[in-house]
Amino acid sequence: MRNYCTRCRKSYSAEFVRDCDGVPRCSCGGIVKPDVVLYEESLDQQTMEKSIMAIRSADMLIVAGTSLTVYPAAGLIRYYRGRRLVLINRDETPCDDLADLVLHTRLGDVFSQL
Ligand SMILES: [Zn+2]
Repeated sequence: MRNYCTRCRKSYSAEFVRDCDGVPRCSCGGIVKPDVVLYEESLDQQTMEKSIMAIRSADMLIVAGTSLTVYPAAGLIRYYRGRRLVLINRDETPCDDLADLVLHTRLGDVFSQL
């Protein structure tokens, strides 16, 4: 996992991103992001920061209906630090190994029984 500053492009370790509080920032003030397809194409910076903050402070994260191969969803999951990660998706995802609970089924089947 490579991460880099969006301003000066200095790279950071996955541990740096995981362990720092709040939105990970470079010493230059830029935001440190996973080295993946950039979010700016689909989401503005403020929306992205809010999403990162929400995921960071969550006790539980339920990710549903994404193969986690499409960004920004796949990048956002890296910011989660809680202990309960739940993935609900019909097919396997690259993040299944990280999850505490994986349900390979259709969303409707899960939520209709809650
Ligand atoms: Zn920087």
